[in-house]
Amino acid sequence: MFDVAIVGGGPAGLTAAIYSARYGLKTIVFETFEPVSQISMASKIENYPGFEGSGIELLERMKEQALKAGAEIKMEKIEKVLKKGDYFLLIGENEYEAKTVIIATGGKHRSAGFENEDLFLGKGISYCATCDGALYRGRNVVVYGSGKEAVSDAIYLHDIGCNVKLISRSPLRVEKAMIDEISKRRVEIIMNANLRRVEGKNKVERAIVFLRDKKEEIAIDCDAVFVAIGMRPATDLVAELGVERDSMGYIKVDREQRTNVPGVFAAGDCCNNPLKQVVTACGDGAIAAFSAYNFLKERE
Ligand SMILES: Cc1cc2nc3c(=O)[nH]c(=O)nc-3n(C[C@H](O)[C@H](O)[C@H](O)COP(=O)(O)OP(=O)(O)OC[C@H]3O[C@@H](n4cnc5c(N)ncnc54)[C@H](O)[C@@H]3O)c2cc1C
Repeated sequence: MFDVAIVGGGPAGLTAAIYSARYGLKTIVFETFEPVSQISMASKIENYPGFEGSGIELLERMKEQALKAGAEIKMEKIEKVLKKGDYFLLIGENEYEAKTVIIATGGKHRSAGFENEDLFLGKGISYCATCDGALYRGRNVVVYGSGKEAVSDAIYLHDIGCNVKLISRSPLRVEKAMIDEISKRRVEIIMNANLRRVEGKNKVERAIVFLRDKKEEIAIDCDAVFVAIGMRPATDLVAELGVERDSMGYIKVDREQRTNVPGVFAAGDCCNNPLKQVVTACGDGAIAAFSAYNFLKERE
């Protein structure tokens, strides 16, 4: 019987583990390769205070710290979490019992599916304008998407000094205020267009776009393509437990990272938080562990 079972060994889960173990709670963390922690795909992190280096390096340091604090880390995918009396049952290859559960399962950015998207990941293809935008100041970038994420990424990249073109498969699917904001900035918007592939020697040099109205293919010189078509949070494991999620599948939490199910907390990118970054995932994880600790104390 664990005091705290944490599903997810990314920044949110590992921070929760460090705090939970240091509170003296018997703590276990589960992680898996599918999906793998997003941070392991970050070639360079420059916006986590006090650290500059690769995502894998930061993740390894967090793991070491969690183990040192006394948490157990297990490579096992948890398929579902159920309630069993006063406790929770975590079901993977094996079954585990815990008094509280912290869901920190992150998610996966949706791929757009154009040619060379995977090949150039980290070499001009990015799924995170906040993370990588500053690397492309003063350079040509393309944002690919039609919704709120795409338009706000285009606005943000323009405002930090990138030369932005927004490529959208359809008319933009955002409210008028956002259309006004992007129009004010004179960002070029190419609608009804499909990004077919990116080309370059060792990094992105151009995007090949098909204009559906003209039935014509054009090449746009650029140093980066920001794919902004949303994320798929890995939250199916709590569906049966009745944990409330929003229409996109993100777990709804309050300011103390509590879900609607007492004893179940959530942290990081799997939650409906406004900013999905390492620093916010860590903050969520610390609060979730604090809330789990308080929950257990109140039950004593
Ligand atoms: C290419 C890339 C670059 C980025 N660059 C930056 C950057 O420069 N700065 C920055 O702040 N942020 C960056 N981010 C965002 C950052 O990586 C995420 O915000 C952060 O990793 C979220 O942490 P998390 O712990 O919530 O989720 P994740 O890091 O995604 O971790 C989720 C964990 O849950 C585990 N898991 C999921 N489902 C299960 C299951 N059923 N059973 C067991 N384990 C499970 C996974 O194995 C993983 O260990 C980047 C993201 C990407 C993709």
